[in-house]
Amino acid sequence: MPNTKTIALDLGELGAGKTVVCKIERDSDGYYLDNNDGSFSASPVDDSLSMTEDATYSGRYSVTENREVWNDGVYNVEFYEIVDTVEVLIQTDKSNCLDDIFYILSVDTKPDTYISERDCDECGFTFKESQLTKRFDGAMVCKWCFEEEHPLDVFRRMRG
Ligand SMILES: [Zn+2]
Repeated sequence: MPNTKTIALDLGELGAGKTVVCKIERDSDGYYLDNNDGSFSASPVDDSLSMTEDATYSGRYSVTENREVWNDGVYNVEFYEIVDTVEVLIQTDKSNCLDDIFYILSVDTKPDTYISERDCDECGFTFKESQLTKRFDGAMVCKWCFEEEHPLDVFRRMRG
């Protein structure tokens, strides 16, 4: 019985609610995992494994695979976000499989082509997600729109 290999990706809270798939390439021969039957193939019918977002931790995605024993060696994992039916590369990982157990060797940084962008909830201008901050009312805003809640409003809110 093959071991269960878990492939995981953590995009953080701002990466919540995305459609994420991964493709697994066996480094030794360039074959891809065929989601159709779990084998490695030069021409897979379906080379994408759908990943499921964690119910507790938003932005964490994973998929498990246990249909076949994997040869020992290096496997390259590519993570894609599906945006309007187009696959956008998010991240690539190099992993090692030993005795059918999967170890992550290295995680490459996100390619320059993938920078998450989001509109400021207040002014509507587009920023990198890292430039937005959560305001007291839950809105994600840029630094120009960020403000602390007025002390009097806090008092009114507490008083109900
Ligand atoms: Zn703004």
